[in-house]
Amino acid sequence: MTTIRTLRTDVAVIGGGIVGASAALALRQMGLGVALLERDLCGSRSSGVNYGGVRRQGRPLSQLPLAQRAHRIWGRLPELLGIDGEYIRSGHFKIARSESDMASLERYRAMSSDFDLGLELISAARLREQCPWLGTRAVGGSLCVEDGQANPRLVSPAFALAAQRAGAQVFERHKVDEVAHDGALFMVRSGNALEVHAPVLLNCAGAWAGAIAERFGETLPLRSGHPVMAVTEPVPHFMDWSLGVEGGGIYCRQVARGNLVLGGGAGIALDADRARVDRDAIATLAVQAVELLPTLRHAHFIRTWSGTEGYLPDREPVLGPSRTTPGLFHGFGFAGAGFQIGPAAGEVLAELARDGRSSTPIDAFAIERFDPVPEPEPQPASTTASDARPH
Ligand SMILES: Cc1cc2nc3c(=O)[nH]c(=O)nc-3n(C[C@H](O)[C@H](O)[C@H](O)COP(=O)(O)OP(=O)(O)OC[C@H]3O[C@@H](n4cnc5c(N)ncnc54)[C@H](O)[C@@H]3O)c2cc1C
Repeated sequence: MTTIRTLRTDVAVIGGGIVGASAALALRQMGLGVALLERDLCGSRSSGVNYGGVRRQGRPLSQLPLAQRAHRIWGRLPELLGIDGEYIRSGHFKIARSESDMASLERYRAMSSDFDLGLELISAARLREQCPWLGTRAVGGSLCVEDGQANPRLVSPAFALAAQRAGAQVFERHKVDEVAHDGALFMVRSGNALEVHAPVLLNCAGAWAGAIAERFGETLPLRSGHPVMAVTEPVPHFMDWSLGVEGGGIYCRQVARGNLVLGGGAGIALDADRARVDRDAIATLAVQAVELLPTLRHAHFIRTWSGTEGYLPDREPVLGPSRTTPGLFHGFGFAGAGFQIGPAAGEVLAELARDGRSSTPIDAFAIERFDPVPEPEPQPASTTASDARPH
């Protein structure tokens, strides 16, 4: 018979994506004890398979304080993680394909002027001169010089490693299948292997966080989404910027090795955990890519993939205290845009764990914006999360 390992700490974290791992790192920097449980490998889900856009431009104003905080963290990446994660402030250029797109970019620049994003509008004439490689549908755009890109496969696991080096207890391949709260302490259990007791619990389980919230009587309209990604063979380097288009659609960046990483459209869930690209979405992406960058006409895609990300109806995360259970804090539902703000969300969660409040405004992300569910059915003292259904 195996004996379950039991430990007591200050904060238990469920989920080793960029949000949970950066929370663990920030908690250690505050001197708090932390145990992080990750079902797979840290950074192997959304946080490690995303496009790698580190972009503030285009975010809703509600997210800009958090994005600015994250921008400062990204600027200290080598000092924090010991690697640069291929993070570069390459510039993010949002393309206008019509005069009305251009007007909308101008409006965003005016609306976001308090945040010092340094947005610069670029006319069609200057674009033709500066970027002869851009297709003719681009009639101008908006450049955020200090936005950039990074390699998610390097950055996200590195946050967990840095947390571990700083003293966090990181348990990979430890799926949390049971959680409970006795009024003072949370109990978080992974099978017969580990039981963690802590007065604070951070729910950073990404697209799967709804199942954890539900255990505490908080049912949310969280659904999973699957952005489609593709990468081309290497081509001679021609572009530094990361590109997006106003109104959404394709996005694209070129890495130092010459490959173009592209995203756009929606993939297909195979089950609650796995997703793949959709053939039609890839065909559309290929057409859009050539329209945007004609030089890609003969480039081959060498790999396509997708991931599983949590979306709430307003595409804002839930970041803040639980409404039912003191000591429980949520950080999930980043709607395809949590890589850039993830490190700041982690710091905010650490502040909430230590102080009960955040020094960055997070009211827009309160769980209270969703209608409370009717009184939950009486629950036994502890319940299993293993019957979680896909959202
Ligand atoms: C294809 C794609 C492209 C994207 N592109 C960008 C982009 O360019 N820029 C950007 O800013 N954002 C982007 N995003 C969004 C970004 O990747 C996510 O918002 C961010 O990574 C979310 O981080 P997370 O830590 O909340 O979630 P995750 O990385 O999903 O981490 C959650 C972790 O919790 C673990 N977990 C779940 N349940 C349990 C359990 N019961 N027990 C233990 N562990 C559990 C999971 O295994 C997972 O590792 C993209 C997302 C995808 C999928």
